Amino acid sequence: MVKTKGYAANNAHSPLASYSFERREPRPQDVVIEIRYCGICHTDIHQVRDEWGGSTFPMVPGHEIAGVVTAVGDKATKFKVGDKVGVGCMVDSCRHCVPCRSGLEQYCAEGPIYTYNSREHDGTVTMGGYSDKIVVDENYVLKMPDNLPLDACAPLLCAGITLYSPLKHWHAGPGKNVGIVGLGGLGHMGVKLAHAMGAQVTVFSQSLRKQEDAKRMGADNFYATSDPETFKKLVASFDLIVNTVSAGIDWNQYTNLLKIDGSFVIVGVPDKPVPVDAFPLIMGRRSIAGSLIGGIRETQEMLDFCGEHNVASTIELIPIQKVNEAYERMLKSDVRYRFVIDMASLKSS
Ligand code: NAP
Ligand code: ZN
Ligand code: ZN
Repeated sequence: MVKTKGYAANNAHSPLASYSFERREPRPQDVVIEIRYCGICHTDIHQVRDEWGGSTFPMVPGHEIAGVVTAVGDKATKFKVGDKVGVGCMVDSCRHCVPCRSGLEQYCAEGPIYTYNSREHDGTVTMGGYSDKIVVDENYVLKMPDNLPLDACAPLLCAGITLYSPLKHWHAGPGKNVGIVGLGGLGHMGVKLAHAMGAQVTVFSQSLRKQEDAKRMGADNFYATSDPETFKKLVASFDLIVNTVSAGIDWNQYTNLLKIDGSFVIVGVPDKPVPVDAFPLIMGRRSIAGSLIGGIRETQEMLDFCGEHNVASTIELIPIQKVNEAYERMLKSDVRYRFVIDMASLKSS
């Protein structure tokens, strides 16, 4: 077994604290990774606080994992010791259903095996990236861009792919007007990626506080959602709006901003159902849709795209001892724009 050190939540109400555990003995197709950095996703907070129900404790969160290969199994051919690699939200899936065979493992008919708070095929509870090592089947490991700093690339593994996938699916590109709602971890990656794809990008944020940062990331326009004028002057302007907000907001205000055939895509998870009016949809053949991370193949495509276009996350690197404080700041929308844990700090824990 592989002795591992990390940070875990013991229940839904306690702060994360130092925790030691064991990972499986590497199998022939496994890659052993020394984790250097792990991003903090808002999903980690939802899961640690059991906001979606069914959380298993102790829980080691973290699914924006970037590190270096330290060992490979006899039958693993894709990676070698020393490679810079990443692990995102999934560490396995059934591998035989139609979605799995089509590279859409995130929609696996049996449910993908998530990087933490999930169960392996043998029933073992998965433990995530707030830790110093991970053992993962090579088919669920990604190659990181060589030309970009590893810490700033960790958030690509969830925030990056979660925006890349819908932007691609709904054809963000030259001549398209794309709106991004919420400028947090996901939202700021949406701005950078949509801009790199050549789209016109507009940010909807609660206030104008983050305007200058957004412009530097490639946003063309920036609006405060606290100003009612925003929703009057932008009616029928957008081909696509991606909502990254982790709270209930009035979706009807946004569907009115879509052009004919425009789509409002939900990736942020509100805490309760949000009512939807029929008329704004009917009157413009508009759609409301959802999107979940991205498949392994598409995640690699996104990482290669980021390498080519010099796209990485804007991060605040923190020691693991500050993880609970980082959660509190995220809950106040005070994140510029992704916290990334420097795993070297685990040594002093
Ligand atoms: P985050 O960094 O906390 O960003 C969320 C942003 O939403 C905030 O920075 C803020 O932006 C805005 N916001 C927060 N509370 C708000 C409120 N009450 N009203 C209006 N706007 C508010 O979170 P994240 O890591 O980007 O994750 C966002 C959501 O996506 C979470 O629910 C997470 O679980 C979900 N998620 C989904 C997927 C998927 O595959 N679908 C993948 C990863 C994460 P402003 O300050 O600009 O307003
Ligand atoms: Zn995530
Ligand atoms: Zn499957």
